[in-house]
Amino acid sequence: MPVMPEISQRAQSLGTENAFVVLAEVNALARQGKDIISFCIGQPDFPAPVHVQEAAIRAIREGKHGYTPSAGIDPLREAAARYMSGMRGGLPIRPEDVVIGAGAKPFIAYAILSTTDHGAGDEVIYPNPGFPIYESQITACGAIPVPVQLKEDRDFAFDPAELEKLITPRTRLLILNYPHNPTGGLLSRKELQAVSSILQKHPQIWVYADEIYSRLCYSGEFFSIAQLPGMYERTIISDGASKTWAMTGWRIGFASNPRLAPAFTRWITNTESCASQISQWAALEAINGPQDAAEMMKQSFLDRRNLIVKILNETPGISCRTPGGAFYAWPNVTEACRMVGAADSEEFRKRLLNEAGVAVLADIHFGARVPGEGQHLRFSYAASRQAIEQGIARMADFIRENTRKVA
Ligand code: PMP
Repeated sequence: MPVMPEISQRAQSLGTENAFVVLAEVNALARQGKDIISFCIGQPDFPAPVHVQEAAIRAIREGKHGYTPSAGIDPLREAAARYMSGMRGGLPIRPEDVVIGAGAKPFIAYAILSTTDHGAGDEVIYPNPGFPIYESQITACGAIPVPVQLKEDRDFAFDPAELEKLITPRTRLLILNYPHNPTGGLLSRKELQAVSSILQKHPQIWVYADEIYSRLCYSGEFFSIAQLPGMYERTIISDGASKTWAMTGWRIGFASNPRLAPAFTRWITNTESCASQISQWAALEAINGPQDAAEMMKQSFLDRRNLIVKILNETPGISCRTPGGAFYAWPNVTEACRMVGAADSEEFRKRLLNEAGVAVLADIHFGARVPGEGQHLRFSYAASRQAIEQGIARMADFIRENTRKVA
């Protein structure tokens, strides 16, 4: 055997977003002619607003084709600073504190890389279940992942007392995400205050506030941990265009922190150079232009949230909390698994896909299962009302038919 060059341990151990893996399964079944209703994809089911599309076309026609500064074009940094501040009680965010990225996702790695050192035993606390890229990047960056468990009886917030127990002198970064993927959960102002008072005792900890779903908050105004006394300077606020203006493929995110902005800019110079110039001009229009499309989409998600939660709760063996934000429902299917004889949510998910033609993600796609918390599935309800009604009806039939067989 010829000696081959090795692939690094880091690359081999890199995690992924299983949504993409399940999506490949769904596409393979669809190619075989199977009729699949999918609740897998975490993105708005709308096109970007027309005035945003036009701004992009204008940018192309006006020859805006070159690199931009790594931190982004000045007008967009200014607009994003104003926008992020306006959404967060008028925080003193300056344009120079804001960095534009190719989506909000790259800032997860940049934040970990800028606050921890490889192999130094630095710890990062992150929500579990949670967006899988947190754990994957913490590990790939050579830090130690420390999950904080979210609790169904707290509507998928964590218990601040449990957070406190996880903090050590090695903790460098706390990742928060609300509205939350995959549960749709929020952290109340009271819970954020509790977190902030814990953090006052540990000044070495940065916070990464992943607020990509900030505009999709259904119960009152969005509130950021950065708004609490002493939190602004140590919080990296991350937001972006993907979810608010249905621009996931355009790849525009914004992150702000007065001390870390120069480090983030340098990471961008070392990786993608800059976000797409065309998309930056489009995002400028998204922020500065009319907001009716964003408001319409939010209202539409809220209507569909109410629909899916209602019919999930009418389904045998399933109970679903009402998620306060984003476009995800995270029903508890422990009893449904028992009824159909599925060992766990992942077996249930596979059978649902293959036997009922309904594609969802399972809790294990978002981290290790939380002991005592039961089995869950994630439904992205950014699907048509008809798909929601038919998909859940198929699942209900599947449960009823298979319960009879087991009984
Ligand atoms: N954070 C969370 C919690 C997300 O769900 C997503 C998108 N699924 C992102 C970050 C990344 O978004 P973007 O498209 O801006 O990279």
